[in-house]
Amino acid sequence: MFSPPMKLVDIQGETGIIDTGEDRYPIHLHFLDSAHVGDYLFVHLRFAIQKVDRNIPPTRSLPSETELRATIERMLGGKDFTVLLTSGAQVESLHSESTKYKLPPNLLFVYGPGCPVCITPMGYYRNVFQLAQNKNVILVTFSDVMNMPTPEGTLHSLRMLGSDIRVVHSPYDVLRIVDWNPDKEVILAPVGFDSMAAAVGITLQEAERRGINNLSIFSSLQRKSEFLREYFLRTERKIDGVLSSPQDIAVEGLDLYKFINDEFKSACVCCGATTREVLAGILETIRQKQTKDLKIDFTRQCQCLKKGNPRIRKVISEMFSLEGTQWILHEYVKQSKYILRDEFKRFDATEKFVVDRDDMIAMPGCHGREIQLGMQLPNECPMFATKCKPDSPVGPGMLSYEGLCNTWYHSSYRFTLPRDI
Ligand code: SF4
Repeated sequence: MFSPPMKLVDIQGETGIIDTGEDRYPIHLHFLDSAHVGDYLFVHLRFAIQKVDRNIPPTRSLPSETELRATIERMLGGKDFTVLLTSGAQVESLHSESTKYKLPPNLLFVYGPGCPVCITPMGYYRNVFQLAQNKNVILVTFSDVMNMPTPEGTLHSLRMLGSDIRVVHSPYDVLRIVDWNPDKEVILAPVGFDSMAAAVGITLQEAERRGINNLSIFSSLQRKSEFLREYFLRTERKIDGVLSSPQDIAVEGLDLYKFINDEFKSACVCCGATTREVLAGILETIRQKQTKDLKIDFTRQCQCLKKGNPRIRKVISEMFSLEGTQWILHEYVKQSKYILRDEFKRFDATEKFVVDRDDMIAMPGCHGREIQLGMQLPNECPMFATKCKPDSPVGPGMLSYEGLCNTWYHSSYRFTLPRDI
Protein backbone atom coordinates (compact mmCIF):
# COMPACT_ATOMS: atom_id res chain seq x y z
CA MET A 1 0.00 0.00 0.00
CA PHE A 2 1.28 3.44 -0.91
CA SER A 3 1.36 5.96 1.94
CA PRO A 4 1.20 9.75 2.06
CA PRO A 5 4.60 11.50 2.27
CA MET A 6 6.36 10.87 5.59
CA LYS A 7 8.96 12.86 7.47
CA LEU A 8 12.61 11.82 7.48
CA VAL A 9 13.89 12.20 11.05
CA ASP A 10 17.34 10.58 10.90
CA ILE A 11 19.93 9.45 8.34
CA GLN A 12 22.64 6.83 8.73
CA GLY A 13 24.43 6.25 5.42
CA GLU A 14 21.98 4.87 2.84
CA THR A 15 19.38 4.27 5.56
CA GLY A 16 16.90 6.82 6.86
CA ILE A 17 14.38 6.76 9.70
CA ILE A 18 10.82 7.75 8.83
CA ASP A 19 8.26 9.10 11.27
CA THR A 20 4.71 8.08 10.32
CA GLY A 21 3.13 9.97 13.21
CA GLU A 22 2.41 6.66 14.97
CA ASP A 23 5.63 4.76 14.40
CA ARG A 24 9.21 5.09 13.20
CA TYR A 25 10.97 2.66 10.90
CA PRO A 26 14.05 2.44 8.67
CA ILE A 27 13.89 3.01 4.92
CA HIS A 28 16.40 2.82 2.05
CA LEU A 29 17.57 6.04 0.42
CA HIS A 30 19.31 4.53 -2.64
CA PHE A 31 16.87 6.04 -5.13
CA LEU A 32 17.33 9.66 -4.01
CA ASP A 33 20.10 12.03 -5.18
CA SER A 34 20.12 13.61 -1.75
CA ALA A 35 18.05 13.61 1.42
CA HIS A 36 18.03 15.77 4.53
CA VAL A 37 16.46 15.38 7.92
CA GLY A 38 13.08 17.13 7.76
CA ASP A 39 12.37 16.14 4.13
CA TYR A 40 8.99 14.62 3.35
CA LEU A 41 9.31 11.47 1.26
CA PHE A 42 7.11 9.19 -0.79
CA VAL A 43 7.97 5.68 0.38
CA HIS A 44 7.12 2.35 -1.21
CA LEU A 45 8.36 -1.07 -0.12
CA ARG A 46 10.61 0.69 2.41
CA PHE A 47 12.37 2.62 -0.39
CA ALA A 48 12.13 6.41 -0.63
CA ILE A 49 11.11 6.96 -4.24
CA GLN A 50 10.77 10.75 -4.32
CA LYS A 51 11.05 13.87 -2.17
CA VAL A 52 8.15 16.26 -1.81
CA ASP A 53 9.11 19.81 -2.76
CA ARG A 54 9.29 21.85 0.44
CA ASN A 55 7.62 24.78 -1.34
CA ILE A 56 4.46 22.83 -2.11
CA PRO A 57 1.67 23.34 0.41
CA PRO A 58 0.53 20.19 2.24
CA THR A 59 -2.79 18.47 1.69
CA ARG A 60 -4.50 20.50 4.39
CA SER A 61 -4.38 23.48 2.04
CA LEU A 62 -6.90 21.73 -0.24
CA PRO A 63 -10.56 22.81 0.09
CA SER A 64 -12.68 20.84 2.54
CA GLU A 65 -14.37 17.61 1.46
CA THR A 66 -17.75 19.35 1.55
CA GLU A 67 -16.53 22.16 -0.71
CA LEU A 68 -14.95 19.71 -3.15
CA ARG A 69 -18.15 17.64 -3.35
CA ALA A 70 -20.26 20.75 -3.94
CA THR A 71 -17.94 21.97 -6.71
CA ILE A 72 -17.99 18.57 -8.40
CA GLU A 73 -21.78 18.54 -8.34
CA ARG A 74 -22.00 22.09 -9.67
CA MET A 75 -19.53 21.44 -12.49
CA LEU A 76 -21.26 18.24 -13.59
CA GLY A 77 -24.62 19.99 -13.76
CA GLY A 78 -26.50 16.67 -13.93
CA LYS A 79 -24.44 15.20 -16.79
CA ASP A 80 -22.82 11.78 -16.47
CA PHE A 81 -19.06 11.65 -15.95
CA THR A 82 -17.10 8.40 -15.62
CA VAL A 83 -13.80 8.09 -13.77
CA LEU A 84 -11.48 5.09 -14.00
CA LEU A 85 -9.75 4.40 -10.68
CA THR A 86 -6.43 2.62 -10.97
CA SER A 87 -5.26 2.45 -7.36
CA GLY A 88 -6.62 0.19 -4.64
CA ALA A 89 -5.76 2.84 -2.04
CA GLN A 90 -7.88 5.47 -3.79
CA VAL A 91 -10.82 3.07 -4.06
CA GLU A 92 -10.46 2.24 -0.40
CA SER A 93 -10.38 5.89 0.54
CA LEU A 94 -13.60 6.65 -1.35
CA HIS A 95 -15.38 3.63 0.06
CA SER A 96 -14.15 3.29 3.62
CA GLU A 97 -15.23 6.81 4.51
CA SER A 98 -18.54 6.39 2.67
CA THR A 99 -17.62 9.45 0.64
CA LYS A 100 -19.01 7.86 -2.47
CA TYR A 101 -22.54 7.88 -1.01
CA LYS A 102 -22.37 11.65 -0.73
CA LEU A 103 -21.19 12.23 -4.31
CA PRO A 104 -23.65 13.09 -7.08
CA PRO A 105 -25.17 9.95 -8.63
CA ASN A 106 -24.13 10.99 -12.13
CA LEU A 107 -20.45 10.69 -11.12
CA LEU A 108 -19.74 7.10 -12.11
CA PHE A 109 -16.74 4.93 -11.38
CA VAL A 110 -15.10 1.98 -13.08
CA TYR A 111 -12.36 0.02 -11.42
CA GLY A 112 -9.28 -0.77 -13.45
CA PRO A 113 -6.05 -2.66 -12.82
CA GLY A 114 -5.03 -1.53 -9.35
CA CYS A 115 -3.95 -4.78 -7.77
CA PRO A 116 -0.93 -6.72 -9.13
CA VAL A 117 -1.84 -9.84 -7.15
CA CYS A 118 -5.26 -9.89 -8.85
CA ILE A 119 -3.96 -10.03 -12.43
CA THR A 120 -1.34 -12.72 -11.84
CA PRO A 121 -2.52 -16.13 -13.11
CA MET A 122 -3.01 -19.04 -10.75
CA GLY A 123 -0.16 -20.97 -12.43
CA TYR A 124 2.31 -18.51 -10.87
CA TYR A 125 1.05 -19.12 -7.34
CA ARG A 126 1.03 -22.89 -7.86
CA ASN A 127 4.65 -22.71 -8.99
CA VAL A 128 5.57 -20.66 -5.91
CA PHE A 129 3.88 -23.32 -3.78
CA GLN A 130 5.88 -26.01 -5.57
CA LEU A 131 9.17 -24.15 -5.05
CA ALA A 132 8.44 -23.68 -1.35
CA GLN A 133 8.09 -27.44 -0.90
CA ASN A 134 11.78 -27.95 -1.69
CA LYS A 135 13.63 -28.80 1.54
CA ASN A 136 16.72 -26.86 0.47
CA VAL A 137 14.79 -23.68 -0.22
CA ILE A 138 13.81 -20.71 1.91
CA LEU A 139 10.93 -19.02 0.10
CA VAL A 140 10.62 -15.29 0.79
CA THR A 141 7.49 -13.41 -0.20
CA PHE A 142 4.97 -10.76 0.83
CA SER A 143 1.93 -11.09 3.06
CA ASP A 144 -0.60 -11.00 0.18
CA VAL A 145 0.84 -14.11 -1.39
CA MET A 146 0.84 -16.14 1.84
CA ASN A 147 -2.90 -16.79 1.84
CA MET A 148 -3.43 -17.24 -1.90
CA PRO A 149 -5.76 -20.25 -2.12
CA THR A 150 -4.17 -22.59 -4.68
CA PRO A 151 -5.67 -26.06 -5.32
CA GLU A 152 -2.75 -27.48 -3.27
CA GLY A 153 -3.35 -25.13 -0.31
CA THR A 154 -1.87 -21.85 0.86
CA LEU A 155 1.74 -20.98 1.61
CA HIS A 156 0.56 -20.31 5.13
CA SER A 157 -0.65 -23.93 5.48
CA LEU A 158 2.57 -25.18 3.88
CA ARG A 159 4.58 -23.27 6.47
CA MET A 160 2.56 -24.95 9.24
CA LEU A 161 3.70 -28.27 7.74
CA GLY A 162 7.34 -27.27 8.09
CA SER A 163 8.37 -25.50 4.89
CA ASP A 164 10.68 -22.54 5.45
CA ILE A 165 8.66 -19.55 4.19
CA ARG A 166 9.39 -15.99 5.33
CA VAL A 167 7.40 -12.77 4.88
CA VAL A 168 9.20 -9.46 4.32
CA HIS A 169 8.19 -5.80 3.98
CA SER A 170 10.81 -5.01 1.34
CA PRO A 171 12.72 -7.08 -1.24
CA TYR A 172 15.93 -5.74 0.31
CA ASP A 173 15.18 -7.70 3.50
CA VAL A 174 16.03 -10.87 1.61
CA LEU A 175 19.75 -10.00 1.80
CA ARG A 176 19.70 -10.46 5.57
CA ILE A 177 18.07 -13.88 5.18
CA VAL A 178 20.68 -14.87 2.58
CA ASP A 179 23.52 -13.81 4.91
CA TRP A 180 22.21 -15.92 7.76
CA ASN A 181 21.50 -19.00 5.63
CA PRO A 182 24.49 -19.62 3.33
CA ASP A 183 23.68 -23.33 2.97
CA LYS A 184 20.19 -22.79 1.53
CA GLU A 185 18.88 -21.41 -1.75
CA VAL A 186 16.78 -18.35 -0.96
CA ILE A 187 14.03 -17.65 -3.53
CA LEU A 188 12.32 -14.26 -3.52
CA ALA A 189 8.77 -14.38 -4.96
CA PRO A 190 7.66 -10.77 -5.54
CA VAL A 191 4.40 -9.72 -7.20
CA GLY A 192 4.05 -6.08 -8.18
CA PHE A 193 4.20 -3.25 -10.64
CA ASP A 194 7.11 -1.02 -11.74
CA SER A 195 8.23 0.23 -8.31
CA MET A 196 8.43 -3.38 -7.08
CA ALA A 197 10.59 -4.20 -10.10
CA ALA A 198 12.94 -1.36 -9.15
CA ALA A 199 13.16 -2.53 -5.53
CA VAL A 200 13.89 -6.12 -6.65
CA GLY A 201 16.43 -4.84 -9.19
CA ILE A 202 18.47 -2.85 -6.70
CA THR A 203 18.38 -5.78 -4.28
CA LEU A 204 19.89 -8.03 -6.95
CA GLN A 205 22.51 -5.40 -7.79
CA GLU A 206 23.56 -5.40 -4.16
CA ALA A 207 23.62 -9.23 -4.20
CA GLU A 208 25.86 -9.07 -7.27
CA ARG A 209 28.17 -6.59 -5.54
CA ARG A 210 28.45 -8.87 -2.50
CA GLY A 211 29.07 -11.96 -4.63
CA ILE A 212 26.00 -13.77 -3.29
CA ASN A 213 25.25 -17.00 -5.16
CA ASN A 214 22.41 -18.57 -3.16
CA LEU A 215 19.71 -16.03 -4.09
CA SER A 216 17.23 -16.18 -6.97
CA ILE A 217 13.86 -14.70 -7.84
CA PHE A 218 10.63 -16.17 -9.15
CA SER A 219 8.66 -13.06 -9.97
CA SER A 220 5.46 -11.63 -11.38
CA LEU A 221 6.60 -8.08 -12.14
CA GLN A 222 4.32 -6.04 -14.36
CA ARG A 223 4.50 -2.81 -16.31
CA LYS A 224 1.28 -1.10 -15.30
CA SER A 225 0.92 1.36 -18.15
CA GLU A 226 0.55 -1.51 -20.63
CA PHE A 227 -2.43 -2.87 -18.70
CA LEU A 228 -4.05 0.51 -18.68
CA ARG A 229 -3.62 0.88 -22.45
CA GLU A 230 -5.09 -2.60 -22.90
CA TYR A 231 -8.00 -1.63 -20.70
CA PHE A 232 -8.84 1.35 -22.92
CA LEU A 233 -8.56 -0.79 -26.04
CA ARG A 234 -10.93 -3.46 -24.75
CA THR A 235 -13.49 -1.74 -22.54
CA GLU A 236 -16.84 -0.79 -23.98
CA ARG A 237 -17.24 1.94 -21.38
CA LYS A 238 -16.67 5.58 -22.17
CA ILE A 239 -13.99 6.78 -19.76
CA ASP A 240 -13.92 10.54 -19.22
CA GLY A 241 -11.11 10.72 -16.67
CA VAL A 242 -8.45 8.54 -15.05
CA LEU A 243 -6.96 8.84 -11.58
CA SER A 244 -3.44 7.49 -11.42
CA SER A 245 -1.35 7.17 -8.30
CA PRO A 246 2.09 8.43 -7.22
CA GLN A 247 3.75 5.02 -7.29
CA ASP A 248 2.72 4.60 -10.93
CA ILE A 249 4.12 7.96 -11.99
CA ALA A 250 7.16 7.93 -9.71
CA VAL A 251 9.19 5.77 -12.07
CA GLU A 252 8.59 7.18 -15.54
CA GLY A 253 7.10 10.58 -14.78
CA LEU A 254 4.74 12.67 -16.79
CA ASP A 255 5.04 11.01 -20.19
CA LEU A 256 4.02 7.54 -19.04
CA TYR A 257 0.27 8.11 -19.33
CA LYS A 258 0.28 10.70 -22.09
CA PHE A 259 -1.35 8.18 -24.41
CA ILE A 260 -4.53 8.57 -22.33
CA ASN A 261 -4.82 12.18 -23.56
CA ASP A 262 -3.52 11.64 -27.06
CA GLU A 263 -5.05 8.31 -28.08
CA PHE A 264 -8.17 8.08 -25.95
CA LYS A 265 -9.04 11.75 -25.33
CA SER A 266 -9.53 11.23 -21.61
CA ALA A 267 -8.22 13.39 -18.78
CA CYS A 268 -5.66 11.89 -16.39
CA VAL A 269 -4.65 13.21 -12.99
CA CYS A 270 -2.14 11.80 -10.54
CA CYS A 271 -3.21 12.23 -6.93
CA GLY A 272 -2.62 10.79 -3.48
CA ALA A 273 -5.06 8.52 -1.69
CA THR A 274 -6.58 10.72 1.00
CA THR A 275 -10.25 11.48 0.41
CA ARG A 276 -9.61 15.13 -0.32
CA GLU A 277 -6.79 14.35 -2.73
CA VAL A 278 -9.02 11.90 -4.60
CA LEU A 279 -11.87 14.44 -4.79
CA ALA A 280 -9.46 17.15 -5.95
CA GLY A 281 -8.18 14.74 -8.60
CA ILE A 282 -11.72 14.00 -9.81
CA LEU A 283 -12.47 17.73 -9.93
CA GLU A 284 -9.41 18.36 -12.09
CA THR A 285 -10.39 15.59 -14.56
CA ILE A 286 -13.84 17.19 -14.90
CA ARG A 287 -12.32 20.63 -15.45
CA GLN A 288 -9.93 19.34 -18.10
CA LYS A 289 -12.57 17.41 -19.96
CA GLN A 290 -15.02 20.31 -19.95
CA THR A 291 -12.43 22.86 -21.10
CA LYS A 292 -10.86 20.35 -23.55
CA ASP A 293 -7.54 21.20 -21.89
CA LEU A 294 -6.29 17.64 -21.66
CA LYS A 295 -2.91 17.21 -20.01
CA ILE A 296 -1.54 14.77 -17.50
CA ASP A 297 -1.80 16.72 -14.31
CA PHE A 298 -0.96 16.36 -10.66
CA THR A 299 -2.46 17.41 -7.42
CA ARG A 300 0.05 19.64 -5.68
CA GLN A 301 1.72 17.00 -3.54
CA CYS A 302 2.43 14.94 -6.64
CA GLN A 303 4.13 17.77 -8.57
CA CYS A 304 7.52 16.40 -7.52
CA LEU A 305 6.82 13.22 -9.49
CA LYS A 306 6.47 14.95 -12.86
CA LYS A 307 9.84 13.86 -14.16
CA GLY A 308 9.78 10.46 -12.51
CA ASN A 309 12.94 9.14 -10.92
CA PRO A 310 15.93 8.59 -13.25
CA ARG A 311 17.71 6.44 -10.65
CA ILE A 312 14.76 4.05 -10.51
CA ARG A 313 14.52 3.94 -14.31
CA LYS A 314 18.24 3.20 -14.54
CA VAL A 315 18.00 0.24 -12.17
CA ILE A 316 14.99 -1.19 -14.02
CA SER A 317 16.61 -0.85 -17.44
CA GLU A 318 19.91 -2.32 -16.23
CA MET A 319 18.25 -5.37 -14.70
CA PHE A 320 15.16 -6.13 -16.78
CA SER A 321 13.81 -6.32 -20.28
CA LEU A 322 10.12 -6.54 -21.21
CA GLU A 323 8.22 -9.33 -22.87
CA GLY A 324 4.59 -9.91 -23.75
CA THR A 325 2.71 -12.52 -21.80
CA GLN A 326 -0.70 -13.72 -20.66
CA TRP A 327 -2.43 -12.50 -17.53
CA ILE A 328 -5.79 -13.06 -15.91
CA LEU A 329 -6.96 -9.72 -17.16
CA HIS A 330 -6.22 -10.17 -20.84
CA GLU A 331 -5.17 -13.03 -23.05
CA TYR A 332 -1.95 -11.34 -24.09
CA VAL A 333 -0.43 -7.99 -23.21
CA LYS A 334 2.67 -6.98 -25.13
CA GLN A 335 5.67 -5.51 -23.29
CA SER A 336 3.97 -6.16 -19.97
CA LYS A 337 6.26 -8.45 -17.98
CA TYR A 338 9.67 -7.59 -16.54
CA ILE A 339 12.15 -10.43 -17.01
CA LEU A 340 15.81 -10.54 -15.96
CA ARG A 341 18.33 -9.63 -18.63
CA ASP A 342 20.57 -12.46 -19.83
CA GLU A 343 23.55 -11.22 -17.83
CA PHE A 344 21.56 -11.62 -14.59
CA LYS A 345 19.93 -14.97 -15.41
CA ARG A 346 21.93 -16.55 -12.62
CA PHE A 347 19.38 -14.91 -10.29
CA ASP A 348 16.46 -16.53 -12.13
CA ALA A 349 14.94 -19.40 -10.12
CA THR A 350 13.68 -21.04 -13.31
CA GLU A 351 17.33 -21.60 -14.30
CA LYS A 352 17.78 -23.71 -11.15
CA PHE A 353 14.37 -25.32 -10.57
CA VAL A 354 11.64 -26.83 -12.72
CA VAL A 355 8.33 -24.94 -12.66
CA ASP A 356 5.60 -26.28 -14.89
CA ARG A 357 2.15 -24.96 -13.90
CA ASP A 358 0.52 -22.74 -16.48
CA ASP A 359 -3.09 -22.21 -15.30
CA MET A 360 -4.31 -18.93 -16.67
CA ILE A 361 -7.40 -18.39 -14.50
CA ALA A 362 -7.58 -17.40 -10.83
CA MET A 363 -9.93 -20.03 -9.41
CA PRO A 364 -12.96 -21.84 -10.89
CA GLY A 365 -16.07 -19.74 -10.34
CA CYS A 366 -14.14 -16.56 -9.49
CA HIS A 367 -15.38 -13.58 -11.50
CA GLY A 368 -12.13 -11.68 -11.00
CA ARG A 369 -11.51 -11.19 -14.72
CA GLU A 370 -14.98 -9.72 -15.34
CA ILE A 371 -14.55 -7.44 -12.32
CA GLN A 372 -11.08 -6.31 -13.40
CA LEU A 373 -12.43 -5.47 -16.84
CA GLY A 374 -15.26 -3.39 -15.37
CA MET A 375 -18.00 -5.72 -16.63
CA GLN A 376 -19.23 -6.66 -13.13
CA LEU A 377 -19.10 -5.35 -9.59
CA PRO A 378 -17.79 -7.59 -6.79
CA ASN A 379 -21.21 -8.12 -5.24
CA GLU A 380 -22.40 -9.60 -8.53
CA CYS A 381 -20.07 -12.57 -8.05
CA PRO A 382 -22.18 -15.42 -6.58
CA MET A 383 -19.45 -16.20 -4.05
CA PHE A 384 -19.06 -12.64 -2.76
CA ALA A 385 -19.50 -12.49 1.04
CA THR A 386 -20.80 -16.07 1.08
CA LYS A 387 -18.09 -18.56 0.11
CA CYS A 388 -15.56 -15.80 -0.47
CA LYS A 389 -14.61 -13.52 2.44
CA PRO A 390 -11.35 -11.87 3.52
CA ASP A 391 -10.67 -14.63 6.06
CA SER A 392 -11.53 -17.38 3.55
CA PRO A 393 -10.76 -15.89 0.12
CA VAL A 394 -11.55 -17.83 -3.03
CA GLY A 395 -9.86 -15.42 -5.45
CA PRO A 396 -7.08 -12.82 -5.35
CA GLY A 397 -9.51 -9.87 -5.41
CA MET A 398 -10.70 -10.82 -1.92
CA LEU A 399 -7.30 -11.90 -0.68
CA SER A 400 -5.30 -8.78 -1.45
CA TYR A 401 -5.96 -5.70 0.67
CA GLU A 402 -5.70 -3.75 -2.59
CA GLY A 403 -8.20 -6.06 -4.31
CA LEU A 404 -11.56 -4.59 -5.25
CA CYS A 405 -13.57 -7.45 -3.70
CA ASN A 406 -11.76 -6.96 -0.40
CA THR A 407 -12.34 -3.20 -0.45
CA TRP A 408 -15.99 -3.73 -1.39
CA TYR A 409 -16.43 -6.22 1.44
CA HIS A 410 -15.15 -3.73 4.02
CA SER A 411 -17.17 -0.80 2.73
CA SER A 412 -20.74 0.21 3.30
CA TYR A 413 -21.35 -0.79 -0.31
CA ARG A 414 -21.11 -4.39 0.63
CA PHE A 415 -24.56 -5.56 -0.36
CA THR A 416 -25.78 -2.81 -2.65
CA LEU A 417 -25.58 -2.55 -6.39
CA PRO A 418 -24.66 1.00 -7.28
CA ARG A 419 -25.04 2.47 -10.71
CA ASP A 420 -21.33 2.43 -11.49
CA ILE A 421 -21.39 -0.24 -14.14
S1 SF4 B 1 -15.79 -12.34 -4.55
FE1 SF4 B 1 -14.11 -13.82 -4.46
S2 SF4 B 1 -14.61 -15.38 -5.96
FE2 SF4 B 1 -15.86 -13.57 -6.42
S3 SF4 B 1 -14.67 -12.39 -7.89
FE3 SF4 B 1 -14.15 -11.61 -5.88
S4 SF4 B 1 -12.32 -12.78 -5.32
FE4 SF4 B 1 -13.28 -13.90 -7.00
